[in-house]
Amino acid sequence: MPAELIDGKALAKKVRAEVKTRAEAFEAKHGRQPGLHVVLVGEDPASQVYVRNKERAAGKVGIAGDVHRLPADTGQQKLEALVAELNARDDIDGILVQLPLPEHLDAQPVLDLIDPGKDVDGLHPVNAGFLTAGREGLRPCTPSGCMRMLEEVGVDPKGKRAVVVGRSALVGKPIAMMLLEKHATVTVAHSRTADLAAVIGESDIVVAAVGRMGLVKGEWLKDGAVVIDVGINRGDDGKLHGDVEFEAAKERAAHITPVPGGVGPMTIAMLLSNTVTAAERRVG
Ligand code: NAD
Repeated sequence: MPAELIDGKALAKKVRAEVKTRAEAFEAKHGRQPGLHVVLVGEDPASQVYVRNKERAAGKVGIAGDVHRLPADTGQQKLEALVAELNARDDIDGILVQLPLPEHLDAQPVLDLIDPGKDVDGLHPVNAGFLTAGREGLRPCTPSGCMRMLEEVGVDPKGKRAVVVGRSALVGKPIAMMLLEKHATVTVAHSRTADLAAVIGESDIVVAAVGRMGLVKGEWLKDGAVVIDVGINRGDDGKLHGDVEFEAAKERAAHITPVPGGVGPMTIAMLLSNTVTAAERRVG
């Protein structure tokens, strides 16, 4: 039987509605909206689109947003001074530095400077440490979105075999930690994994976060597997495709996320959710 699609667009809408309710309650209680500030350096067209989408989405759910657009030749010191200024402002709950930064800038010290309590991307080493330790912190948006998708379709990772393909700090590693926290038996596969097909064939939950179109073959999947496809790849047809061979995979899987319309829409929704969470925690 063909897999049930996990509709990221519909779920993101539901998450945004929950965030709106929380943001309104926050405003009623504290006399201001939660605040999200985005720093964008340079003219990268994709980043401009992402930032515009974040700004628009924030406004719709009652988050006060602002974007600091800096010229491409901005120096390291000036960028770090801006982050320090945003850290110090009481009306700002979330700070996001849009990546990638222009080549002459070093992203790591900038990200490390963000107050961990305002780190709504969840990339600060303190937040990565909290996640690994199983403690409360701000968690990366895309992995949080993936976990929410599993929850929504009633898939409990407890006792299941899960494989995460990809080990980036942004996606692969945090998802692996979150699955582990939910008591899955987790394998992290990567570019040097021998016999990826065999690892995938043993897995009840498959998360693909690589960035290579069709890397995960449908025929490798165990019957009834749950497939979360994080990958975004532009095909020769000009369309977006995931890392999983979708047509073949949906014949074997029980649930599968499409690309586009799967994990993608969840990322911004979870960013908004993180912003309200940061605001609520900051006021105690
Ligand atoms: P990355 O390049 O940082 O990491 C890719 C990972 O894939 C690496 O850990 C590498 O070891 C692994 N890998 C490479 N070749 C492999 C192979 N042949 N077999 C197994 N593993 C292999 O990428 P990233 O930032 O983690 O992003 C991964 C994908 O997810 C990209 O397509 C990106 O566009 C997409 N992404 C989507 C969203 C979203 O909102 N949907 C958010 C972030 C990233």
